[in-house]
Amino acid sequence: MSYDLLVQNVRVVRHDRPEPETADIAVTDGKIAKVAAGIDPAEARTVVDGGGKLAFPGVVDAHQHWGIYNPLSEDTASESRASAQGGVTTGITYMRTGQYYLNKGGPYSEFFPEVLQASEGRAYVDYAFHLAPMMKQHIEEIPSLVRDHGVTSFKIFMFYGSHGLHGRSTDQSSFLMTPEGERYDFAHFEFVMRGVQKAREEFPELADQISLSLHCETAEIMSAYTKMVEEEGTLTGLAAYSASRPPHSEGLAVSIASYLAHETGLPTINLLHLSGAKAMDAAMRMSKAFPHIDFRREVTVGHLLADITTASGIGGKVNPPLRPREDVEALWEHLLEGNIDWVVSDHACCRDEVKFGEPRDDVFVAKSGFGGAEYLLPGMVSEGRKRGLPYSRIAQLISWNPAQRFGLPTKGAIIEGLDADFALVDDDSTWTVRAEESESTQEYTPFEGFELTAAVTDTFLRGAQILEGGKVVGEPGGRYLFRPTGK
Ligand SMILES: [Zn+2]
Repeated sequence: MSYDLLVQNVRVVRHDRPEPETADIAVTDGKIAKVAAGIDPAEARTVVDGGGKLAFPGVVDAHQHWGIYNPLSEDTASESRASAQGGVTTGITYMRTGQYYLNKGGPYSEFFPEVLQASEGRAYVDYAFHLAPMMKQHIEEIPSLVRDHGVTSFKIFMFYGSHGLHGRSTDQSSFLMTPEGERYDFAHFEFVMRGVQKAREEFPELADQISLSLHCETAEIMSAYTKMVEEEGTLTGLAAYSASRPPHSEGLAVSIASYLAHETGLPTINLLHLSGAKAMDAAMRMSKAFPHIDFRREVTVGHLLADITTASGIGGKVNPPLRPREDVEALWEHLLEGNIDWVVSDHACCRDEVKFGEPRDDVFVAKSGFGGAEYLLPGMVSEGRKRGLPYSRIAQLISWNPAQRFGLPTKGAIIEGLDADFALVDDDSTWTVRAEESESTQEYTPFEGFELTAAVTDTFLRGAQILEGGKVVGEPGGRYLFRPTGK
C-alpha cells in the first residue's frame, strides 16, 4: 500500500489555477502524497468517493476567539467542532490577558502555558494563538513568545483604553488587569510596534511572518456617538449600534495605526475586520501614503453576508458593527478588485444567556461577538459565485493568504507535501442556516434563515476525516501549531 487514504473524483480547487481540475487526492502520513486523475485505488488502505464535489483546501480561519465568554477548554472542544462543520482545519485565536478569556493578568510566561494546557487534546482542528501585549512586560516577552512558543503574530485593540469591550466599562485597571499606573493608549501601541519590529530584527529568517494585527476603532469617537445615539433614542437595534460606532471612527484609527507603523518602521501590519466603505477607503489611502508598509486587509464573513437589517436581531452585535447594505456592497466591490487579503469568521461564541442583557432588546447592554466559522466557506462559495468570484480566489482568501502571512507554510493549499487538510463542498445544495444544527454552543446565529447554495459535507485534517456527511466524527486530533510550521 502506497497511500493511507485516497479521495477519488473531486474537483480540486487551487489558489493558483483558474479552474478546478477533476482528480484524486492521495494521502500518506497526514501529507498530500499525490494529486492526479486515475490513481489506482488498490494502492490505498482507505478509499473515499468524492462524488464529483469540490475539494477546497482546509480553511485557515485566521481570526477566532476560543474561550472569550466560555472556559477555554470547553470552547476548544465545541467551537472546533463547529469549525470542522465549516471546513475549517486551522483556527487562529486572538488571546489576551484581562477580563474574559482566562480572566486574569500577569506575564505571558505564566499565562500562555495555561492557555496551551486548557486547549490541549480537545480540539478537532489544528490551532494557534495571536497574542496581545497588554502591558510593558508583555512587550519584553515578544522575543521569547516567538522563540519558545512559536507565536509570531500580535494584536492591538485600539479602542480598549478608554472604552472597554462593550462601551460601558471605563475602568481600565479592572478590565485590562494591567499594573497600576500603566496606560493602554497610543504610546503603548507605539512601543508594541517597536517591540514587534525588534523581534523581526532579532529573527530575520522569520521577519516576513512576524506581524501585528490591529482592531481599528477610536474610543473617543465611539464614546461621544454612543452618548448621542442613546440620548436621541430614535434608532434601535443594530442600526443604533452602527451609528454609535460610526465608520469614521474606524477610518481614523486606521490612519493613526498606519502612521505609527511608519514611525516605528514596522512594515507587517494587518488591518482587521474592516467593516465598510470608509474603513476600506482609509486603508487604501494609507497603502498609497506608506507604500513601504506591507498592509494586509481583512474582512469577516459576517460583514460580507449580513447588514443591519438582514441580520437576525441584535445577536448580530459585533465590533466593529454590522453596517447598512451600502457598506456590504462596498466591501464586495473591494474584494472583487483584489483589495482584500483574507476573509475570516471572527468566531466568538457568545451563548444566549451571556449575549443578551436586560432588557433583552437593548443593543447597548448586549455583549459583542458571535460565531460563524460554520458558514465561512459555504457563505463565500454561495455569495461569491453570485458575484462572479472564482473559486481559486476564494481559496486564496480563506486558506492560502492567511497561511502565508501567519507562518503556516504547511497549510493552505492542496499541494503535494503539504498537510492533507481539505474540505469537500457540494456546490449544488441549497439549505437554510439554522443555529440548532451547529455544533457551537451559541444557540442562536445572526445568519438564522439565510439561504446558502453550497454545503460542506466532509472535512479532512492531516488525512483524518473529522466531518463525514455533515457530521463531526472521530476523536479530537487537532494540534497546537508552533509557528512557522514545518521546521
Ligand atoms: Zn475578533
